[in-house]
Amino acid sequence: MIRERIRTMSSTLDFDIELSARRVPAAEREAILANPGWGQHFTDHMIAISYSPDRGWHDAKLQPYGPIPLDPSSQVLHYAQEIFEGMKAYLQPDGTLVMFRPRMNAARFNRSAERMAMPTLPEEVFVRALELLVGADRDWVPTQEGHSLYLRPFMIATSRALGVQRPSQEYLFLVIASPSGSYYSGGIKPVTVWASDDYTRAAPGGTGEAKCGGNYAASFVAQAQALEAGCDQVVWLDAAERRWVEEVGSMNLFFVHGSGAQARLMTPALTGTLLPGVTRDSLLKLAPDLGLPVEEGRISIDEWERACADGEITEVFGCGTAAIISPVGGVKGAGGRAWTIGDGEPGPVSMRLREELIGIQYGTRPDPYGWIHEITSD
Ligand SMILES: *Cc1c(COP(=O)(O)O)cnc(C)c1O
Repeated sequence: MIRERIRTMSSTLDFDIELSARRVPAAEREAILANPGWGQHFTDHMIAISYSPDRGWHDAKLQPYGPIPLDPSSQVLHYAQEIFEGMKAYLQPDGTLVMFRPRMNAARFNRSAERMAMPTLPEEVFVRALELLVGADRDWVPTQEGHSLYLRPFMIATSRALGVQRPSQEYLFLVIASPSGSYYSGGIKPVTVWASDDYTRAAPGGTGEAKCGGNYAASFVAQAQALEAGCDQVVWLDAAERRWVEEVGSMNLFFVHGSGAQARLMTPALTGTLLPGVTRDSLLKLAPDLGLPVEEGRISIDEWERACADGEITEVFGCGTAAIISPVGGVKGAGGRAWTIGDGEPGPVSMRLREELIGIQYGTRPDPYGWIHEITSD
């Protein structure tokens, strides 16, 4: 067993490194990497770190991937005290492995933790845990264009207690990794979205800003409704007035007004019910440097329909770590309401931004913002 010591501002943490004796054979791994799909296969190792009030974060391990023992009374199984992050490791042309703005994910993870009454994890530990896992499983990082190693840090409440008067006392932080293909295997296809009348994602004072599993559990029924209506994803409207457009599926939204030299962008402002995406934040910084003014504002579903009919809105896209940029081609809603955005095809502004961002992530374009975080091998 190898031991690595992480020093943080407030403490030190020892990681025990236990490498798997039963790794997936190389031939099998190569077969998976040839056609990885999305989130279906997992690498040979995972990270686990325990928390208790008296010991703080302790028992940090890189260990073989596998089931975790969980008491049936664990709080997470009853009251859904759980948060997660989603990010990727990318292979650069020179063979180095990088992550994209991992500190942003670490900071957001801690904001989610605070909202869900869970302990925070030092950012250095969060980032080092990811580096250790990617380093141990570097053979699992896909080399095909547009593919990546998807990383899933998460935290669960593990105290054995059914009382609801207080949050769990004990927690487990885990990181697993999954080789992932391109979100669009058959070329970029715009999504059609369903404006849900029946369901909302997040209410003022609720957990919309936190990346918690419960938000997703509550969204599946609306997603099923979208599929039934022949759409790909749900457009979430605000819970109070059911007018203001917030997000689409699990992506933030951008609206393109005008075209050519007149094109400008608008994204719904972070009101507390939207998830503050790292991709959204990156586009807010990147777009003005490409000559595209951006504004954080708001738009109602009726205004969206009218502005598409007038040709004022020319493109709409969703953005997030998984798909990066996902053009929206059309909207449908209750009562047969339906409209197309532009000609329903991916627009030039969406595709330009997509290329720029992907270029930075995969190291084929310069990174003037210092967003690329190289994973140092030990
Ligand atoms: C994770 C997530 C996003 C996108 O965030 P990124 O950091 O850009 O991946 C947007 N909306 C919801 C609801 C999410 O959970």
